[in-house]
Parts: sequence; C-alpha cells; structure tokens
Amino acid sequence: MTALSHLRGIIFDMDGTIVDSGLDFSAMRQEMGLRPGLPILEQLDELSPAERAAMEVILHRHEMAGADRATIIDGADRLLAALASQGRPMAIVTRNSTATTAYTLDRLKIAHYFDIVICREDGPHKPDPWAILEICRRWQFSVEEVVMVGDFELDILAAHHAGCPSVLFTEGKPQSQVAGAELATHVAQHFDDLYHLLAPGQDSI
Ligand SMILES: [Mg+2]
Repeated sequence: MTALSHLRGIIFDMDGTIVDSGLDFSAMRQEMGLRPGLPILEQLDELSPAERAAMEVILHRHEMAGADRATIIDGADRLLAALASQGRPMAIVTRNSTATTAYTLDRLKIAHYFDIVICREDGPHKPDPWAILEICRRWQFSVEEVVMVGDFELDILAAHHAGCPSVLFTEGKPQSQVAGAELATHVAQHFDDLYHLLAPGQDSI
C-alpha cells in the first residue's frame, strides 16, 4: 500500500502535469495586452464579446503551437500505463480548450488512457470544483475516493473546494517555491514520487 493506493479514480491536470507544452503564459498575456500574473481566462471574462473574440484567436494560436511541440513529461507515460493496468479510471481536467486538448492527447498517443476529459468549454473551470464533482458523479465515486493531481495552485484549490485529496507536482522545484503547497494533501517533487504515491506494487520506474 502507498499513501494514495486505495483511491479509485485519478484526475489529472494536463499542461505541466502529464504534458510539457511549453506554454509561455507571460508572453501570451503580453501579446493579448492582459495584466501580468493573473490567470488569462478570468481576464478574458472581463472583456467585451468583440475584444474577447480577438483575444481568443491569439490564445488559440499559442495553444495550438504548444500542442505541436508538446512532449510527455518524463515518467508520465509509465505512470499512466501502471494505473491503467490496475483498472483505475483516469480523467483530465484542464483549462485548455477542447480542440487543443484532443489534438495534444491524440498526437502523444495517450488519449485512450482517459475516459473523461473536461475542458474549459464544458463548464466552470478550476479553481471551481465543478469538473471534479462532475467526474465523481459519472464514475459514481465519492470525493474521498478520487485524487486531483496538478502542478498549479488552481488544481489544488479546485480539489480543496471539492473536498478531495490532491497532489501538487512541482516538476523538481522545492515545495516552498510553489504556490498551493500548503493546501495540497501531498507534494510530489519528481514524477517517481508521484508514481510511488499512486501506484503500489509497481516499484521500479
Ligand atoms: Mg498545469
């Protein structure tokens, strides 16, 4: 048994957690004339429909360029295979678009691992807990039976609001440098930490 091996369903963020798409959010905000340091989608909500449409063209171009250069994060493919071999369902909750997400998962040949993929068009986005609660409803699991795994504070906040356990993946950074660590149930600095938390009996990576 590992700390999270009893959990029935695993919910992943995509960008920065499963996939490195190299999205440069600062450059995206700058090109769109948005304020630095604040999430893009919330800033788009403040714009008029015409301004928003113009910004979404820029956003889509950056996201598709990111999808074209995306790679699987080292170790993620083996974790997905291990969880699949245990018959544990997996889902993705992303603030990325449906088109970019589908293209990324298909291109990297990992789409088949996920039986539910929820993108920003589907409903309220993270940090809102809606997507996690919707996945629990479809899986017929309680929130205590799933875990949200992500690399960003909004992933951890969504889990916190939903009342489910969470793992903050820091991509090698010390947890003191990553926002959200204080609310995360667990912190995984490297992907093999995540592997050992989630996948019992699969002890080599
Ligand atoms: Mg992320």
